[in-house]
Amino acid sequence: MFDSKTLKEWDRRYIWHPFTQMKDYMKMEPLVIERGDGCYLIDTEGKRYIDGVSSLWVLVHGHKKKELIEALIRQSKRLCHSTLLGIANAPSIVLAKKLIEISPKGLVKVFYSDNGSTSVEIALKMAYQYWQHKGEKKRKRFISFTNGYHGDTIGSVSVGGIDLFHKVYRPLLFKSYKAPSPYCYRCPLKLKKETCHMACVGEFERIVEKHKDEVCAVVIEPLVQGAGGMITQPEGYLSSIWKSTKKHGILLIVDEVATGFGRTGSMFACEKEHVQPDFMCIAKGITGGYLPLAATLTTDEVFNGFLGRFDEFKTFFHGHTYTGNPLACAVAIENIELFRKEDTIKRLKKKISLLHKELQRFYDLPHVGEVRQEGFVVGIELVKNRRTKSIYPPEEKIGHRVILEACKRGVIIRPLGDVIVLMPPLAIEETTLKELINVTYESIEIVTGR
Ligand SMILES: *Cc1c(COP(=O)(O)O)cnc(C)c1O
Repeated sequence: MFDSKTLKEWDRRYIWHPFTQMKDYMKMEPLVIERGDGCYLIDTEGKRYIDGVSSLWVLVHGHKKKELIEALIRQSKRLCHSTLLGIANAPSIVLAKKLIEISPKGLVKVFYSDNGSTSVEIALKMAYQYWQHKGEKKRKRFISFTNGYHGDTIGSVSVGGIDLFHKVYRPLLFKSYKAPSPYCYRCPLKLKKETCHMACVGEFERIVEKHKDEVCAVVIEPLVQGAGGMITQPEGYLSSIWKSTKKHGILLIVDEVATGFGRTGSMFACEKEHVQPDFMCIAKGITGGYLPLAATLTTDEVFNGFLGRFDEFKTFFHGHTYTGNPLACAVAIENIELFRKEDTIKRLKKKISLLHKELQRFYDLPHVGEVRQEGFVVGIELVKNRRTKSIYPPEEKIGHRVILEACKRGVIIRPLGDVIVLMPPLAIEETTLKELINVTYESIEIVTGR
């Protein structure tokens, strides 16, 4: 391999990093990861770091997991790729059956792709085309939420609601109706959680009623709006949205890309509120964080809408080259097996309680505005003034400075603006979890003061 210095030089010279201001990046000493080990990442100089955000929300059973590596090697000796366009391959079939078995009732068909954005893109196109085939040609719109995030392709950006990421592309996007985000800490309706009776659901209902004849589907991140700042939803919110879509006969697309595979404490977030969506999009944790793979699950009702004579052209004309890749599917099968063998979800309960308990003391820090948690998903919102909830000026880069402090102390985390995110791998040991929390606390304290 090449030495650390050469790699850093070439990184600066050749790579354009995602979601990264390269002018700042090029001035910094890059951190080059070379190995993984359990819940740790190791850089080219041999320094170890806790992987505090699961390598961007994907890692489940840890790095270098024997079973996952063996599944990958076993499959690679048989077949690395073959298309799903018109023909099949073994791992994708077995995985589809397993996915259906663990998913909410009613979801019976699996359409593969290779990342979260495409899994949403596919659901949008399917929902639209479903209504076209049914003869409801006026249905061309979607309802989504402010602060929502569904990926970076044009379709998924069209249903996104984060101005910072999405505003510049607006002229390129299709129109979608935006319902208010259930962001209780900064309620868009200026109400108080204790007394509002979820008035935002009423607001959502009004939008549905006004546009119900032109809407294909509602797109939602269940229980937590992730990239929007780990905005946790009040209990009963998701099921209320579901009931409303049912009542008005429109489809529900649930984007479980971030929340799926145990992240919120159940296999899928939908389960917690007994929601049965028409589409479920999954990606990030599906291979335990080892290979890119995604899937869009749907119902018989939707699937049957696409059946017809060849020359009726009701085919779903969509499919990525690497759809159903056998390597990724083989690892995903083993990932699901591990959930069963290791009782991952059940063993998570204690760690979620520990996390909850430890997080309370963050309120001792005067610039912690709110600590939000949903299972193993945490967002710590930092504010300039706790009483007025005023934000820090962006040029202070408070969130970014906190993660740099954490990095010095052997922890890799990433902020969303001034929200510090923790999303540890489900397999993390309690002692490592405590260390992650302690370092995060210290780093916030150093940057924002006592
Ligand atoms: C990450 C994410 C996506 C996009 O997934 P990519 O694999 O990055 O394309 C979509 N929806 C949600 C909720 C996500 O968190």
